[in-house]
Parts: sequence; structure tokens; C-alpha cells
Amino acid sequence: MKKHNFNAGPCVLPREAVESAIEAIRDFDGTGIGLLEISHRTPGWERVMAETEQLWRDLLGIPDNYAVLFLGGGASTQFFELPANIMKSKAAYLQTGVWAKKAVKEAKFYGDVEVVASSEDKNYTYIPKGYKIPTDVDYFHITTNNTIYGTEIHTDMDSPVTLVADMSSDIMSRPVDVKKYGVIYGGAQKNVGPAGVTFVIVRKDLLGSSGRKLQTMVDYSTHIGAEARDNSMFNTPPVFPIFVMHETLKWVKNLGGLEAMYKINKKKADLLYGEIDRNPLFVGTAAKEDRSLMNVCFVMAPGKEALEAEFMDFAKSQGMVGIKGHRSVGGFRASIYNACPIESVEALVKCMQEFEQKHK
Ligand SMILES: *Cc1c(COP(=O)(O)O)cnc(C)c1O
Repeated sequence: MKKHNFNAGPCVLPREAVESAIEAIRDFDGTGIGLLEISHRTPGWERVMAETEQLWRDLLGIPDNYAVLFLGGGASTQFFELPANIMKSKAAYLQTGVWAKKAVKEAKFYGDVEVVASSEDKNYTYIPKGYKIPTDVDYFHITTNNTIYGTEIHTDMDSPVTLVADMSSDIMSRPVDVKKYGVIYGGAQKNVGPAGVTFVIVRKDLLGSSGRKLQTMVDYSTHIGAEARDNSMFNTPPVFPIFVMHETLKWVKNLGGLEAMYKINKKKADLLYGEIDRNPLFVGTAAKEDRSLMNVCFVMAPGKEALEAEFMDFAKSQGMVGIKGHRSVGGFRASIYNACPIESVEALVKCMQEFEQKHK
């Protein structure tokens, strides 16, 4: 049976990207040697690195005064690497979920952290509003998409101080006004590739702004410039995930770029939220105005809780994979990232409708 992959991360990739990765492992770029066996100093690989950076710049419209880095360690490493690089003494954080809370914890190693608002009181089911961003801080940190709770900050906000965003789970899902941000970072494995590569987009005037002495690898500057061959090649880059990211972004570009990607994502999300709102057996958990286009969280409607296990079994029998909600939310979570085809969303909706009929 055809499987429909709704995993939250690592998650579904475009088939084209998977196929060309398989081929490249056998024979990279017509060299007769596999991608995993070549030197990262070969011209063929240097071209992939340069093209990958160019795809990022073209798709997101990243201005020239920003560097684009591909590093290891995951978004979790950026939770401390970011403050190490740009926090002099104080930073502000918006706490919209467990990932944001983890980022707060690591920032505290480098100075004072002010949590300007938190939605922990309601298990992070909404994005706090009406808070004031302090002006006596080095930066303000947000998490644009809260993967576990299915909430999302849908617009690029204005901030009186440097705005920093963890965009792990919604990068490349919509156009972004990059110049509103000082730093954008995230793990690739939610929306732009497999696990193993982390992207950091940093405005160059922020480099060295913490004034702190840093270990070579922690310092963003190390990964820019001549020693890094201008493109994250100071040391061996994670070649495989970067290659798959390259193929994934080519796929996004061929679809028409981020405007087109956003339209498709909106259509998928509207379809699924529409069914959740219509179907008397289910309810969504996130505040409607903050609903994520990437992670759709829902539970059984009040009084129908006893049907949860039965729906899970039914959905599995119909080929649905990865729809179990995170343990801190319960119920179901369908992650419908860029590469999740609309046919999978239609299949899940059909499943919910058939389940409703069974219980009429
Ligand atoms: C998954 C996730 C992370 C953690 O990413 P790693 O690359 O596994 O460290 C951080 N932030 C958000 C929003 C995430 O979804």
C-alpha cells in the first residue's frame, strides 16, 4: 500500500531529490566515484557548495551583506553558538514552545535573558501578542514555527533591536523578508533536506559583535572568507545532507520558488484544517489565527476521546505514517512540509471522513 509520510522531522523529501542522491552515491557528477567517497576539495563538489548557496540567495532574496553558512550540530547547537557570537550582555526571547525554551536555557550561559512573553500557560497553543520588545537588549529571538504545537508566526515582524529567528520548521515554506532579521538559523531536516546540516544566515556587521573570544569552530567568521573557501569549507562539510539540500532546493525553484511553494502549502493546510473544523469527531488544538501551515495538530472532539486509538489504527491501515501527536500535546499531528504531496493530505482527509461515516 502507498504510504503517506507525515513525520515531523526528519521528514518526507521530494522523490526527485532522493533519486538523484541515490545516483550521486553511485557516481558523483560523472566522475565514476561516489559522492561519499570523493574529496570535498574537488571542483565538482565546490560547484555544488556554490550552487547551494546561490539557491538559498535566489529563493529567499538574501542581500549581499548577509553570509549563508552550512554547519554541523543542528539547530540545538545554534542555541548556544548564536549568543556566543552576538550577545554582549542581554537578550530577549519569545517563549512559544519547548524549542524556544531550550534556546533560552543556552543563552543564559552568556548573559541575562528576558523572556518577554510565553504561552506556556496554555501549553503553547497560541502565539503571545501585545508584548513589548525591550530596547536595551542585543537581540530579540523568536521561533517562527512551533513544530510540536502547530503554531506559527506568519509575518516578518518589525523589531527595534536585531531580530533573530529559529526557522527550522518553516524555512522555504513562504517568502521571507530577510532584511528584517539579523540572523536566521535552523536544522535542515524539517523542510530543506535530511538531518546533518544546519543553515545560518547572518548579517555580516553582526560578526564579532559579542566582543567575546571564541573557539575557532564556534566563531561564525571562521566559516566565511578565504580560509573557508568563501563557503563553509573551513573543515569537512556534511557533504551528503548538503547534496540532498541542493537537490531539494532545485525542486523548490522548479516549482516556481517560494511564492508558488506558499500557495501550495496554504492549499494543503486549508484542506486539512477545513476538515478538522467540519468533522464533528475532531478539534484543532492551536489558536485559529496562529495555526501553522507546516504542523497540523488535532485531537478527538470532547466526548469522543475514547475513539483515539481506533482512529490511529484506522489511519495506519490506510497508509498514514507519523501522525501521532507529540507526547506533550497528545492526539494527532500531521506535518505537511513542502515535500508532502497534496495527495497525502487528501488521503488523510478521506480517512477522517470515512471514520466519521463509521461512527454515524
Ligand atoms: C527540530 C527543531 C529544532 C532542533 O533541531 P536539531 O537540528 O535537531 O537540533 C529546533 N527548533 C525547532 C523549531 C525545531 O523544529
